[in-house]
Amino acid sequence: MDTIQIKDKRFTISIPEEHILREVDRVASAISRDLAGKNPLFLSVLNGSFMFTADLMKRITIPCEISFVKLASYQGVSSTGTIKEVIGLNENITGRTVVIVEDIVDTGLTMQRLLETLGTRNPQEIHIATLLVKPDKLKVDLNIEYAAMHIPNDFIVGYGLDYDGLGRNYRDIYTVVND
Ligand code: 5GP
Repeated sequence: MDTIQIKDKRFTISIPEEHILREVDRVASAISRDLAGKNPLFLSVLNGSFMFTADLMKRITIPCEISFVKLASYQGVSSTGTIKEVIGLNENITGRTVVIVEDIVDTGLTMQRLLETLGTRNPQEIHIATLLVKPDKLKVDLNIEYAAMHIPNDFIVGYGLDYDGLGRNYRDIYTVVND
């Protein structure tokens, strides 16, 4: 399937599964090498990162733990509008080596919010692992140590990422066709 239709948008395949898995393999090796002996706690950010998390974790070769968090958006009282709250974090992360596992870093604001929230809970260190980065859109300074792939600004779906709730199940990544 080279082209898919989701609601009003057409998408064309841009990153095939084999390519994705090669890059996930590379990131997993780097993490396993760098964080050996630290019993890292992987914190997977749902929903978008579920497929990346599964493939990444299958390739991590050191003792580690995994947990899942979600970001809930709500309208805050502040003038900035939507505030994202981290929910589901039940682990005590004090003194732990934490690896945030995200699907995509776009402006970086979501990641910044996560780092702020987790930072108040006294972890030893926090690392970022993301499937994708859109470097041209980054608005904040982030130390992204483990990025599987860099992509242009176009909207993508598949491999866990959705358009209006649909498209997460595709094994490849697709880019929107603007016509
Ligand atoms: P940021 O806060 O970095 O701007 O946005 C990160 C979030 O925006 C991601 O976790 C993801 O949910 C969403 N996002 C950003 N770019 C894309 C994209 O191209 N496709 C999809 N499906 N979601 C995206």
